[in-house]
Amino acid sequence: MLELVLPQRCVVCGRGGSQVCGGCLAELPRLEPPLCERCGAPVAWPVERCRECAGRRIAFVTARAAVGYDDAARRLVHAWKERGLRRLAAEAAAIVAERLPPPEVDAVTFVPADRSRRLERGHNPAERLARELAARWELPCLPLLARTRGGRQRGSTATERRSVRGAFRATRPSPRSVALVDDVYTTGATATACSSALRAAGARRVDVVTFARAIRRS
Ligand SMILES: [Zn+2]
Ligand SMILES: [Zn+2]
Repeated sequence: MLELVLPQRCVVCGRGGSQVCGGCLAELPRLEPPLCERCGAPVAWPVERCRECAGRRIAFVTARAAVGYDDAARRLVHAWKERGLRRLAAEAAAIVAERLPPPEVDAVTFVPADRSRRLERGHNPAERLARELAARWELPCLPLLARTRGGRQRGSTATERRSVRGAFRATRPSPRSVALVDDVYTTGATATACSSALRAAGARRVDVVTFARAIRRS
């Protein structure tokens, strides 16, 4: 309701008129090939594994994102997560659909929100993105996962990896191939924990799709 009443300002640049302006959307840094075939990191030349994912236990087949997680993408995702601005999920989905081919999967699912966050925000941003994408791709969107405990701690990379291990379980048998949607790919630890749960529930293949991806400079 508030979204309709309050004067709208771009969540990135503050200009009035819309929740996010066309200029800021156009400037989000689209991820361009060459990418690591597995984790989707931008690389200098096409590789099957990159420095970021080589030697790591990863339970998904591919991860792809539409844009790099720069300051503008961060502000957009933050507003969409914390304030639940519905329009932003649709804008994010439009960019994902424009950048990535429709996944060849049986269904779309999403990283579940932890209960306290969901109660606090009244929505799950990953679910909203997944539903928008599933509609565009004409695929079913199925809630397949739940959290087994506590929160989704964000912290150091090592902390994130530890905190998400075993943090998810499937709530029902999984289709054979699934696209797992989240808002941001950071270390891949959450995506791997969710993919492991889906595979334990029968998925043979999980492909991860996110709006944004953290880019490591090295
Ligand atoms: Zn703007
Ligand atoms: Zn990689």
